[in-house]
Amino acid sequence: MATTRETLLAWLRDAHAMEKQAIEMLENQASRIENYPEMKQKVQSHLETSRRQAERVEECIRRLDGDTSTIKEGMAKFMGNVSALTNAAASDEVVKNGIASYAFEHFEIASYRALIGTAEALGETHIQQVCEEILREEEAMADWLETNLPEVTQRYLQREVTGEQAKR
Ligand code: MG
Ligand code: FE
Repeated sequence: MATTRETLLAWLRDAHAMEKQAIEMLENQASRIENYPEMKQKVQSHLETSRRQAERVEECIRRLDGDTSTIKEGMAKFMGNVSALTNAAASDEVVKNGIASYAFEHFEIASYRALIGTAEALGETHIQQVCEEILREEEAMADWLETNLPEVTQRYLQREVTGEQAKR
């Protein structure tokens, strides 16, 4: 039977796979957005944040003597489905990607909350603190999307009406 420590390690690996997926998704979005400068800037800054998060999660894994090379297949598959939502070919991609990002941030928030509880139960104070810091960054991104998605959507609609390139 797996000890709680092994469970913490497995869930940190899942979080690491999740961050890799986030990085891929944000890189793709950052390179494509043209007409929505605030969105582009926010995506770029959260991309940098996500790269640091992946490194910090990796440090937590190493701290528990884990190997960072294995990515849990189940999580990778699940997150693959999430990233399939970010469809570059969609004629309304900026809106669809905004919706997918908002969902993704909340998946991250839930994951770090579960990790915080696990680390706390194990008395892994440092890991708990790292996860709490990352949680606040994910919440900040989710808040930004919550505030700005309606306006981005309205600009998309305007551009669509005036015949300007709207999708990205
Ligand atoms: Mg993240
Ligand atoms: Fe995030």
